[in-house]
Amino acid sequence: MRPIDLHCHSTVSDGMLPPAELVARAAGNGCRWLALTDHDDLDGLDVAARTAAEHGIGFVPGVEVSVSWQDVTLHIVGLGIDPACTTLQRGLEHVRSGRAERAEQMAAGLARAGIGGALQGAYRYASNAALISRAHFARYIVEQGHARDTSAVFKRYLVKGKPGYVRHEWASLGDAIEWIHAAGGVAIIAHPGRYRVSVYGMHDLLREFRGLGGDGIEVITSSHSTEDYRRFNVLAQEAGLLASVGSDFHAPEESWMDVGGVPDLPLAATPVWEALGLRWDPAPAGAGSSLEAVAGSA
Ligand code: AMP
Ligand code: MN
Ligand code: MN
Ligand code: MN
Repeated sequence: MRPIDLHCHSTVSDGMLPPAELVARAAGNGCRWLALTDHDDLDGLDVAARTAAEHGIGFVPGVEVSVSWQDVTLHIVGLGIDPACTTLQRGLEHVRSGRAERAEQMAAGLARAGIGGALQGAYRYASNAALISRAHFARYIVEQGHARDTSAVFKRYLVKGKPGYVRHEWASLGDAIEWIHAAGGVAIIAHPGRYRVSVYGMHDLLREFRGLGGDGIEVITSSHSTEDYRRFNVLAQEAGLLASVGSDFHAPEESWMDVGGVPDLPLAATPVWEALGLRWDPAPAGAGSSLEAVAGSA
């Protein structure tokens, strides 16, 4: 395992562990650098940073911004952001604002498909009502016995063309990058292997992202196959983008990669932790952690 994890979720968005428990779990798993990257919300960062300090692990404040690009939804992770940045805060507030109405429309679609009570049911799972998400609906639908697990729910009910899917306009790609940069962070395309775009579409996306000042892409993440690791290693290097890594952990029962680390595979492009100034040398035998942030960063 490489003891660094730059992508995970708490109850502030659609994760199932509160920030402090999430960080404690990562530390217990041997993590040395952790970024919390909740969807469209910064509320967990204070507690997470404090908990990380208590456990003696490095913390990187992060966020995962929902973006609409052409006809697909993309996720852009911001790392090393200043949570006090008002440009970022205002931008995220705007991104969050459409979720309530979208949730009502999703519930109406699900009701027509024979799944009642989904709005109240989903909100029961959302600790942060402002961040009501498809993941909360999925948990309710599993609870009601309509599907075996959340990934089956998505396939049957929550993706494009299915009864609970509602098209939504998120942030623009340019805005997301701008907000992250305004907050002093680096902008990373999350799990690029998950988007339904052709080989040409991916080239267009990377070119546009690069042109807008985007910084990197995730290479190693739980939804990537071994083939994805290889492909995005090559693409990051070719495009001159940084390589990032993260579990995208949401919940013990829902994630096959635990929080706190990722498989220790080679990265062809410059790792994002170098750009963030995170010092990350292997500790010499017998010594304590040699982990430290370069002065003034992180
Ligand atoms: P939303 O922001 O409301 O569209 O919800 C997106 C979230 O749903 C993602 O961040 C994932 O946590 C979850 N999700 C999306 N697709 C799937 C899937 N196929 N299986 C399980 N969870 C998914
Ligand atoms: Mn999620
Ligand atoms: Mn994502
Ligand atoms: Mn995520």
